[in-house]
Amino acid sequence: KGTIEFRNVSFAYDPARPILKNVSFEVPAGRTVAIVGPSGAGKSTISRLLFRFYDIQGGEILVDGQNIASVEQESLRREIGMVPQDTVLFNDTIAYNIRYGRTDASEEDVRRAAELAQIGPFIERLPDGYRTMVGERGLKLSGGEKQRVAIARTILKAPPILMLDEATSALDTQTEQEIQAALDLVSRGRTTLVIAHRLSTVISADEIIVLKDGEIAERGTHGELLASN
Ligand code: ADP
Ligand code: ADP
Repeated sequence: KGTIEFRNVSFAYDPARPILKNVSFEVPAGRTVAIVGPSGAGKSTISRLLFRFYDIQGGEILVDGQNIASVEQESLRREIGMVPQDTVLFNDTIAYNIRYGRTDASEEDVRRAAELAQIGPFIERLPDGYRTMVGERGLKLSGGEKQRVAIARTILKAPPILMLDEATSALDTQTEQEIQAALDLVSRGRTTLVIAHRLSTVISADEIIVLKDGEIAERGTHGELLASN
């Protein structure tokens, strides 16, 4: 339970322009693998393929040993928790946003998830500000705070597999470090595929895959990659 495998995956949005060429890697249960590489290398495409937004043209993608070509998108979404780059929130309380899709979660569960993600004091606020008795509007959530809502949602959902797509890229350094710490907490012991721009944000990954022009250019631990460059 909780494995991802890409076997010789080839993909193109436009047949004349291959995006991924024969990409193979494995994320064993409980491990973290990071995909890094320049913009346009095909990193986000990997996460879209994992959720079956597109069909691949060659190879196989397996989740828990099962070819995802025969798995419903909905069950993939249950199995794989995604913390996206940019979180779109419902115009309802943060608590509602954290709970969304998890009607079985207790208020206590929601509160605990919010606290772990360090958004605890905000759970009655609205993303766009909060309403008071006299109808005033309060502060809008910042980018970092919205990320925390997405993290809290993922903590509550507790999926076996996590997909983090440059989850801290839009943030300033201080916020990025705080969010990184929260993400490390969520991904501990959980199968995690991280997509990152910079090697420095994925130092602790079990394996780092460097993607260039849709091909794996290098792979290894952070130390191994530093030694070879
Ligand atoms: P990365 O995440 O590494 O920046 P992407 O996977 O987003 O790269 O994109 C890889 C390439 O595929 C880019 O050249 C991009 O322009 C192209 N691409 C991305 N999405 C689409 C799409 N929906 N249709 C056509 N081309 C796309
Ligand atoms: P970040 O770097 O995390 O995206 P921002 O610069 O967006 O942070 O916001 C910093 C702080 O300012 C946050 O606490 C947020 O609540 C507040 N804030 C953001 N946008 C507004 C706004 N339009 N009006 C008032 N306060 C805001």
